[in-house]
Amino acid sequence: MQCPYCFDQEIKVLESRDSSDSIRRRRECLKCSKRFTTYEKIAIDLMVVKKDGKKEPFNIDKLKKGVALALEKRPFSEEDVSTIALSIEKELKKLRNHVINTRIIGNKVIRKLKLLDQVAYLRFASVYKDFEKIDDFEEELKILTK
Ligand SMILES: [Zn+2]
Repeated sequence: MQCPYCFDQEIKVLESRDSSDSIRRRRECLKCSKRFTTYEKIAIDLMVVKKDGKKEPFNIDKLKKGVALALEKRPFSEEDVSTIALSIEKELKKLRNHVINTRIIGNKVIRKLKLLDQVAYLRFASVYKDFEKIDDFEEELKILTK
């Protein structure tokens, strides 16, 4: 860090404020006493742990594909799919642990779809929750129709 006025490197941080994707810091140069503000972008690398235990970098396109598949032939646009995927990504980044089980992602999608569209919800849930028997499916329906 360098003072933008005198280029000295002795900088004091006066205050830090977190927002969702950046940290804003008020700084003061110890040499010339001028104040300035910096914004640090927070870059979080999410990793996904798959069912077989293998890890791979989180891929928003894959998430979009999953959501799009569930919303196929339902009254939703590509933009809706994007919005859902991005909001899930945002939630994932807020988690303490950034190595995330696919199950957690699946559950988040399920919860979102449940509020949006029951057909899409059941479609997605049937894949993600690994319904073994039709009973499970009926259980879900019962919960929905309550
Ligand atoms: Zn300075």
